[in-house]
This record gives sequence, structure tokens and C-alpha cells, in this order.
Amino acid sequence: MFITDCHIHIQPYEMFKAGAIEVMRKARGKFDDIMEYSRSPKALLKYLDSVGVERAMLINYVAPEVMGLTAEVNEWVANYCRENPGRLLSCGSVHPRHSANVQADMEQLVRLGIRMIKIHPPHQLLFANDYVNGVKELAVIYRTAEQHGTPVMVHTGTSIFPGARNRYGDPLFLDDVAVDFPNLRILMAHGGRPIWMTTAFFLLRRHRNLYLDISGIPPKLLLQYFPRLQEIAAKTLFGTDWPSPGVKDIGQNIAEFQALPLTEEVKEQILSKTALTIWPMLP
Ligand SMILES: [Zn+2]
Repeated sequence: MFITDCHIHIQPYEMFKAGAIEVMRKARGKFDDIMEYSRSPKALLKYLDSVGVERAMLINYVAPEVMGLTAEVNEWVANYCRENPGRLLSCGSVHPRHSANVQADMEQLVRLGIRMIKIHPPHQLLFANDYVNGVKELAVIYRTAEQHGTPVMVHTGTSIFPGARNRYGDPLFLDDVAVDFPNLRILMAHGGRPIWMTTAFFLLRRHRNLYLDISGIPPKLLLQYFPRLQEIAAKTLFGTDWPSPGVKDIGQNIAEFQALPLTEEVKEQILSKTALTIWPMLP
């Protein structure tokens, strides 16, 4: 099966703030492996081979206050993914408060070949719909992505990184975005886990342009969180959030997902097909 993991965190870890890197180190014994993957796309591809993953989306975003990540992450991820653009998909971002010209910076991401834009409200300290509160730059980001057919992923749910503010994690703020940008494909990361799943499911059923990325949800809990997952399978994507705290191994996540009482058709849809409709295989 052609599996896409739509959400992994291979990032320039040397940019992380001390408190953030501490959270990553504490979460796993072998953090040196992760540092090696962040230096070497070849090493990462080997790991992906070993767990049966064909493609992975490398989530990168600008969050100077909480994570220490600046706009340099965009060039970094674009360069990294050049090693194998068929298998390594780049995700970047423009931060409304940390860009002198949001329009120009968005156009630059398009030129870099960035495949997805990330918005991380608890780490970027903003609401996903803050353009209704006067943050016009956010509307420029959504509109430009919509025009270029670039999907936007929005983090929903909690975060345990020092300084993260969880009130921004409520998926309800995506309701405005889905209404105001009807042709924008919006990926809701983590389904509001672990406190806003009812809101998440309602929105996913209400909005045609809203998709669910199941990363960060332990596969064993997935059907407790989303008992009616099958109804939204056509707009659900497999992702892991590896190597974030609590996600030890992509292969283990796939095995646990495969063990769920879902039909083979639904599993294939989520592991493989939905992502292929959003990012078709390169010719
Ligand atoms: Zn993540």
C-alpha cells in the first residue's frame, strides 16, 4: 500500500528553544537518531522504508515566541525535500506578526514548491480566524493558499510545550475559515484532541473543504475519540506527529491502526487514498 504520513516533525532542531528541545529529549531515549534524520534526508528515507511509509509531510512553521522557529524554516524544509520531492513533502508557514510582507512571503513559499501551509494557533499565539478580529494578514495567507491550490493545516487540540496557550486550540475557530475560504482545503490536525472531538466531528461533517489529520491521536483511542470515523473516511488522512512526545515509532502506529475494527476499504482510504487526492503522485 502507498502510505502517506501527512504529519511528521523533522525540523531544524538546532533552532528550537532550550525548553522545547528539553520536551523532545525527555520524550524519547534515542533523540540522537532524530537529530541525524534532521541532518540527513537519506537517513530519514531509510527509516521511512523500514516502516513501510512511501511519503511523509515535514511539518515546519514559524513560531519564534514559543518554539524559537523563524522564517528560515521555509528555506530549510524546501532544501531538505529536494533530495526526493516524490517522497518528502514540504510544509512551511508565514506568521502574520513576523512578516514584513505577507503576500510576498506567501508567493515565495509557492516559488519554493512548498506543498502545504501550517498554522499552529497555540504556538503562534493567534486564533485561526483572527482575520475577523483585524489580523488582515491571516486572510491574505488563506486567500493566497486558496488561489494556488495549496492546502493549509491547522493545529487543533492541546500542546504541552512550555509557553503554548491552549485556548487557541479549539477547532471551532475553523468554522469561519471554512466558510470564508470555500475552495481552500483545510486539514484539521489532531481532531481537537483530547478535549474538543465533538466540535471537530461536527465541523468535519458540516464543511466539504475540511479534512481530518489523525496524527497525535493514539491509534488505540481513535475510535473512542471518533466512533463515527467511517462516515468521514473519505476526508480523513493518516498522520503520526512522530517524533513528538508520545509517538515512539511510525511503524508501531501503523500496526495499531491496522488492528482497528474498520473495513480494509476504510483503512486503505485513510492510510493512502485521501492523501493521494490532495497531493497526487508526481509523474
Ligand atoms: Zn505536530
